[in-house]
Parts: sequence; C-alpha cells; structure tokens
Amino acid sequence: MPLALPTFDDVLAAAKRLEGVAHKTPVMQSSSLNEKLQAKIYVKCENFQRMGAFKFRGGFNALAKLNDAQRRAGVVAYSSGNHAQAVALSARILQIPATIFMPHDAAPAKLAATKGYGATIIGYDRYGEDASSLATALASQNGLTFIPPFDHPDVLSGQGTAALELFKEVGELDVLFVCLGGGGLLSGSALAAKALSPSCQIVGVEPEAGNDVQQSFRRGERVKIATPVTIADGAQTPMVGAITFEIIKALVNDIHTVTDAQLVQSMRFYAERMKMIVEPTGCLSLAAAMQASESLKGKKAGLIISGGNIDLARFSQLMTDYPCEL
Ligand SMILES: *Cc1c(COP(=O)(O)O)cnc(C)c1O
Repeated sequence: MPLALPTFDDVLAAAKRLEGVAHKTPVMQSSSLNEKLQAKIYVKCENFQRMGAFKFRGGFNALAKLNDAQRRAGVVAYSSGNHAQAVALSARILQIPATIFMPHDAAPAKLAATKGYGATIIGYDRYGEDASSLATALASQNGLTFIPPFDHPDVLSGQGTAALELFKEVGELDVLFVCLGGGGLLSGSALAAKALSPSCQIVGVEPEAGNDVQQSFRRGERVKIATPVTIADGAQTPMVGAITFEIIKALVNDIHTVTDAQLVQSMRFYAERMKMIVEPTGCLSLAAAMQASESLKGKKAGLIISGGNIDLARFSQLMTDYPCEL
C-alpha cells in the first residue's frame, strides 16, 4: 500500500491549530558563533517551547485532530521523555486521558514532568522490550488511539511548524541543520524548507553511535540497528520511520553524525556564550555545523535546537565527564 505522505499544506494547517497554544520560539544570533563559523547563523530555540522541546507541536497537532469519541477513549504513547511530556501536556490541555510507556531509566526530570501533567505512566525496559508493541497492544485492548513519536503524518506536520516559523522570520537559508532521531522533526522541516526556501540544503544530524538514518539514506532502504548507547537520549531510535524516511529520501540532502564529546562541546558553548541550557540531543545541529565549518564560510545557515530538558546534576556531570575547550 503506498503511504499517504503529508505535504506543506499539512504543516500550514498544523500551524493554525497551534496558534495561541504553542510558543512562537525565538530565533537567536550570537556574534561569537558567527565569528567562529564565519557565517550568519540563525538558531531556532525550541528549548524554549512549551514542555521544553519541539515535540509539543506534533503531539498537540495529532491530539487536536481526534474526534469526540477518540478524545473520550483516550490516547497512549511511548517515549524516553519529550514525546511523553508533549502528549501528556497536550492531553491535559484538551482534557483527554493519556497513558504513557516510559523506560525505567528515563531522565528523572522528564519522568517527573510527565507525571506532573497528569498522565498515567507505565515503565518498560528500553534495551529489552519493544515499546511500540506494548503501546499498540494496549491501544487495541482498550480502544485507545496510539500517538507514535515520529512516524505519523499529523505528528511530523506539527514538527514542521518550527522550521516554518524560522523561514518566515529570517527568509531563505543556504543550509539548515536539524536534530534527528526517528525523523519527525527532519521530515517536517524539509516540507517547510522546500516550500519556503527551495534551494536550502537540508542536513539531518544523528549521534555517531546510532547512525541508522545515515546508513538507511545511503542504502535507500531502512536499516535497523540495536538501540544506540549515546548521551543523546532523544535520538536513541533503532530505525527511522516509514513515512518520515520517504520524505527524507525525497527532500533531504545529507545526514551527518557527531560524537558525544562534540555534543558536550556544543552544550558548553550554548551555556557559556549564549546563556542557554540545551539537552544533548538538542545540540546535534550545532555540533554538526561546527564540524562542517569549512563549508559554511560566508553562508546563511539555520540550526534548530530541538530541546532543553536536562537536569542540572546531569548537565554538570557531563561537563566533568567530557572536559573540552571551546
Ligand atoms: C524527539 C527528539 C529528537 C528527535 O526527533 P525525531 O522527530 O524523532 O527525529 C531530537 N531532539 C529532541 C530534544 C527530541 O526530544
């Protein structure tokens, strides 16, 4: 069965649903970053989005599209953190009951926030259990609607609204770096970029330890890997989505990878130079731009910071574990 792929119109429709609900996050510039990369860099700060990450956009868009019967029955999702918070907060706003599967070792700040939004949490083993099967089984048993973290037209269309806002604010770009796990943010961003900045090079960035999308992109078919071990807990996906991959194949120019040490270097840069706390996964885009600095000279580039959810104890532990210079 051919997949029904969402289009830029779906991103525009999502933006309408999110109006007055999601934050229009700031686009920041830093002269030390511009000097360092000898480029004009525009940073879209989804670390300042509601619940601390872009995931609110896709989660809310998907839940807002449910009919009354679906809303009454409730939703189920699985996530190591940010999608959990996104679905939990959206469900609270729309008064929909939510059940979320979260790994036992999920970041404490993310667990606490999800509980705080009133969702029912069920724990699972991230390295041993298939969360997607657990969630779909519960959905069919109890008549709930399953809200996947990335591989869903309404989720990825919602995620695309961050890039939509970026292009509307700064105009066309030469290149856009996007943090990449299962590809919801990247595919949504690509839909926005192709409509508003057609010549923009779109680069997805994933952790080197989990380069399943890079492998898939090169091979032209989806490659599944073991759950990668990386500090980028928002990008520990073993395989890119079916729908997101179709869009990525068609619209994305390249997939880059970065190491955990490079992520921490970017966390340090954001904290010291731009006064922002960014979670490791949210630093994928900057870390890749720093690696690609030769090719960025004189260009106008966009970076999407995907999220900022990390507790300070973990933040300072990473600074100690990965001492490095700016
Ligand atoms: C989920 C998440 C990602 C990856 O997004 P995908 O849509 O799965 O590619 C990146 N960064 C953060 C902070 C996330 O929460």
